[in-house]
Amino acid sequence: MSLNDCIINLLNLKDENIKFDDNFYSEETIDHVESKMFHGILSYTPDACYNCGHVMDNNIIKHGFKTSTIKIPKVSGFNAYLKLKKQRYYCKHCNSTFTLKTNIVNKNCYISNNTKVSIALSAKDKLSEKDIAKNHNVSHSTVNRVIDSFYQHYKPKFNYLPKHLCFDEFKSVKSADGAMSFIFCDADTGQIVDIVEDRRLHVLNNYFMKYSKAARNAVRTVVIDMYSPYISLIKSIFPKAKIIIDKFHIIQLFSRALNKTRIKIMNKDKKNYNKFKKYWKLLLKDTSSINYTTYNYHRSFKKPMREIDIINYLIDLDPELKATYELYHDIRYCIKHKDFSLLNRTLSNVNNLISDYMKTSVKTLQKYIGYIENSFIYDYTNGILEGINNKIKVIKRIAFGYRSFYHFRNRILITQNLATLKA
Ligand SMILES: [Zn+2]
Repeated sequence: MSLNDCIINLLNLKDENIKFDDNFYSEETIDHVESKMFHGILSYTPDACYNCGHVMDNNIIKHGFKTSTIKIPKVSGFNAYLKLKKQRYYCKHCNSTFTLKTNIVNKNCYISNNTKVSIALSAKDKLSEKDIAKNHNVSHSTVNRVIDSFYQHYKPKFNYLPKHLCFDEFKSVKSADGAMSFIFCDADTGQIVDIVEDRRLHVLNNYFMKYSKAARNAVRTVVIDMYSPYISLIKSIFPKAKIIIDKFHIIQLFSRALNKTRIKIMNKDKKNYNKFKKYWKLLLKDTSSINYTTYNYHRSFKKPMREIDIINYLIDLDPELKATYELYHDIRYCIKHKDFSLLNRTLSNVNNLISDYMKTSVKTLQKYIGYIENSFIYDYTNGILEGINNKIKVIKRIAFGYRSFYHFRNRILITQNLATLKA
């Protein structure tokens, strides 16, 4: 392999018209950074004048060089540039000059095309745009621009919707109207269908009306949290769909109430404050996995205790806590064993001692009871979306707070392999 081929291959420059001679390399300080500079010459005989189109002949003559400095991907961790001397020609037919073109860089652009490809591929990784920019020695806005230009803007197909959907929302970029954005996915595959900037009812209504009637009528179930605007939305947009309240959100409704009750009592009971604080998790622990056999020494009790002893100690301190604790676990039991009639009986025999927090949760549950039955019939949950939401959190962290929803949405879809590279 000749020296020339070696350099072309090492730098991954896909243009055989670029030639390197013995002085192909130097070290230069660019923007106060020690950088690797490669010196190449672009020279070939063009077929015709770029300006008038006259076929190459003796009246089209070499006319010096135009040099441009092009950013190329880093070499061994160093910023790297290609200083490319491009042959110019003078055409006597039309009295004008032109400079030879190369496919390694677009016209009037100083970032090589393989740098751009590398940036676009990095967008799939868990890397912040800032890091992608740094790795490629380009600005943050260049990264945004390259990602926009390489990926097809994702548009859902408005003539199709999956049979089973999950709805959820997430805290969005600051600029997003309403601050909460809406995400929905196929409940069977977990594939995101789309992300909408604003979860408010009128926005979602307009959004879903873009889908064909047949597509909307095909939707059989929708899993939601207890956000009531979704219910009226689903009823009007997806007339054939059953609404399922996500089980996780039902349990969360009650675990929060139990937690608030514990904190209220903890703050009144100075003597047991530390115990309430330390063992909060035990109160939420599924009753079937509580340990009844192993004694462990607990410093706050100054003696060996089983988990069940600690729980009993805490709930016996306060009848309100005890009643609240018991109701919480009764409801969890009903959900776990999909026993809807037991849930109804439990709710109609609520111990009046339960905390006000718990009473509010019971009221909320009763408000949605018609849809909660569906949670016992169907196995769909928003678990799939929770996973996606965790990914969104990661993206937000790596994104250092996207300012534009457009770019944020794009990046989510790219990492989910939904936005495809333009051909
Ligand atoms: Zn010409």
